[in-house]
Parts: sequence; C-alpha cells; structure tokens
Amino acid sequence: GELGRTATLVVLDKSGGLVVGVGDVVADATDFADRDYFTAPRDGGGTGVYVGAPYVSRRRGDEPSITFSCRLEGADGSFQGVVAIGLRLAGVWGRLEALDVGPDGTVGLLRDDGVVLARAPRPHVLGEEVGQTATFRRMAGAERGSFIGTGFYDGVVRLYSFARVPGLPIIVVVGRATEEVLADWRQRTWIAGAVTGVICAAGIALAVVTRREGLRRAALEARLKRLSDTDGLAGLVNRRRFDELLDRAWRETVRRGTSLAVLMIDLDHFKRVNDGYGHARGDEVLRRLAQAVESCLRRPADVAARFGGEEFVVLLPDTDAAGAVDVAEAIRVATEAGTGRSETAEDIVVTASLGVAVAPPGDAPADLVARADAALYRAKAEGRNRVVVDG
Ligand code: GH3
Ligand code: MG
Ligand code: MG
Repeated sequence: GELGRTATLVVLDKSGGLVVGVGDVVADATDFADRDYFTAPRDGGGTGVYVGAPYVSRRRGDEPSITFSCRLEGADGSFQGVVAIGLRLAGVWGRLEALDVGPDGTVGLLRDDGVVLARAPRPHVLGEEVGQTATFRRMAGAERGSFIGTGFYDGVVRLYSFARVPGLPIIVVVGRATEEVLADWRQRTWIAGAVTGVICAAGIALAVVTRREGLRRAALEARLKRLSDTDGLAGLVNRRRFDELLDRAWRETVRRGTSLAVLMIDLDHFKRVNDGYGHARGDEVLRRLAQAVESCLRRPADVAARFGGEEFVVLLPDTDAAGAVDVAEAIRVATEAGTGRSETAEDIVVTASLGVAVAPPGDAPADLVARADAALYRAKAEGRNRVVVDG
C-alpha cells in the first residue's frame, strides 16, 4: 500500500534475521545483519532512535533510502533485535525541493554527527560527511540558531538557520544565499528610499505651498498696510502714517544737518461749501484739493497727507523757507484754480490758507507742525487765501 511505496518496516531478531517485513522487503537475513541500522542499535545500547546514513537499497539498486531504527530489549535489558523503518529519499527530496529557499538557497537534514541525510539541491553522492566543516561546527551544541557561513558543497555564502528535531539526532538547516537576502533587503531599502523620497517631495511641496502662501500673505499684508496708511477719501497718506514719516524725516534732517519744511493747508470757509452745495460736493472739493496738492510736489521724498477734516499737511525734506513758500504758493494757486471746478455741477471758487514752518529751530517734530499750524492761523487772520511763514 502507501507505506510500501515510500517506506519499509522491518523487525529483525538479535542476529539480524527478518522477523516481520512490511513493504518492499527482501526476505534474506544476510541483507540486514551488516547494516548500520542494525549494528548501531545492537552495539550502542539505549532505546533511542538511531538514524542510519543514506544507503542504496541492495534490491532496488538505485533507490536511496534512510533508516530510523530502535533497539528491542528483553526485560533484563538484553538485546533482542531491531525495528527499523526505511524511508525512500526520493519523497524526502521532493518535499525539501518544494520549499522556497531561493535559487542559491539550500535546505538539509543532517545527522548530528555531520552525515547529510537529505538535502536540496540533491547531492551527487550519498552520505556526505560534513562533520569537520566550519559551517557544521557552528551548529554543534546548540538547539537552534542562525549564522552566516559557507556552503559545505558549493562555497556559497549563506545565512543559515538551524534547529534540532526533538527526540531525533537530526538537525534541520535552511540556508538562503546572502546575495539573495541582500537583494531582498536592497529592494526593501529601495522601497524605503522611494517612500523617503515621496515624503521629502511632500515636504518640499508643502514648503513651496507654504512659501506661496507666505508670499500671498506678504502681499495681503502689504495691501493692508497700504490701506491702513491711506486716507479713504483723498487717497493721500493718513494722519497716522504722516506722523511716522515726519519722525523719520526729522531724524534724517537732524543727521544730515539740512532743513525740513511743513505746510499746513486749510480750506477757506469750507463750511459754506458744505452748506451751500451739500456734503457730497464738499467731498469732491476735498478730492480735488488732494490732487492739486500732489500736483505741486516735485521730489520723491515730498509727502502730502490728510491731516483731518478739510486740513492737509505737506512734508518737504531738504527744503528751506524760500523753497517751502514756493511750493505753498503753488498749492494756493492750484487750489484757487481747480478745486472748485466740477464736471457735473456749477464751478465754485474755493481758496486755501497755508502756514509754513521750517526746522531748525525746534525741539521736536510736533513743534514743527504746531508752528505751521500757528502760521496757518495767522494766514486766516490776515485775510485767508494766502501763505504765511512761521517766525
Ligand atoms: P475757515 O476759513 O476758518 O477754515 O472756515 P471753515 O469753514 O473752513 O472752518 P473750518 O476749517 O473750521 O471748517 C471745517 C469744516 O470742514 C467742518 C466740516 O463741515 C468740514 N469738513 C471737515 N471734514 C470734511 C469732510 O471730510 N467732508 C466734507 N464735505 N466736509 C468736511
Ligand atoms: Mg479746518
Ligand atoms: Mg477751513
């Protein structure tokens, strides 16, 4: 039956004669008496399992087998015979070869004295002895373990793992070529690299997006700053920004030892414009005044600001009294000429009074503005539509 095709079982008496044979067994007593699966249990003593070296069956000729045998004892411990199982190696090899250990891998069953019982790839000669090799000695005395060693039959460097089979003098060894393990590992490294690359790319993309967002935010902030610095009606610099620019111009004037001029501008009888033509028309006049003032400024550093209501202020760095009066006079003329014109309503005559102050002297920027305001007050008092210089 099944057993007969893959294995045989024999029970031998104390002289090696066949008592029972199951499977394809030759019934000739002399066939067994000299076999190691008979002599070893007989001479060795003990009832452990003896594993025989692979051999080629005398009757089957080219069919290699291995044997497992046990000593049979009488009640007094005397040798009574042997029970042995012969296992055809073809089936064992088939099973070993079915294991996926890679093209340069190996899997083997070794007897604990270094006799190769079976291995894949199949050996060219049966019963190899590897007990004296360095690789085998790495496994001596240990239940299980792993190491890198050189194949006993082909010199391939492998990562070996081994374990002893409980109750049997057999070591199972699996070796994978380090090249293949490394290739596997390298592939994993490549994957790790790819993953790292993806993460890096994501990081760069994030940085780019963040930067772009940063630029967008910077642009937004610049726009907000412009808005916060600008007067809504006239489009000029507002009072808050003017104060900053005044401080800066003041410091620059002190540092360079030049002069700084401030013009204060106030429309004459502006209440009448509002009262007579409406607040909207008044606003239109203010916008035209802003344009008129700006049109009179010549240098990039000159600044016109809405000081509040219908009052405007002009900052003229590096400008002495004569220069400041020139600009102030130009503004006065431009105001009279253009501020009251309208495309949609009748023209009205609007004039402005201007006060001029020039530093030094003066203790602080605010003093300069106060002096310009005082000069403006005098211009009003002296009849309006005129320029008065402080001092
Ligand atoms: P004066 O010649 O003395 O300057 O006479 P004035 O009427 O111009 O008097 P004052 O400078 O005190 O007038 C300020 C007026 O300007 C008060 C307000 O009705 C008007 N005004 C202030 N801001 C605005 C504004 O934004 N729009 C308009 N339409 N009117 C404004
Ligand atoms: Mg005023
Ligand atoms: Mg006024």
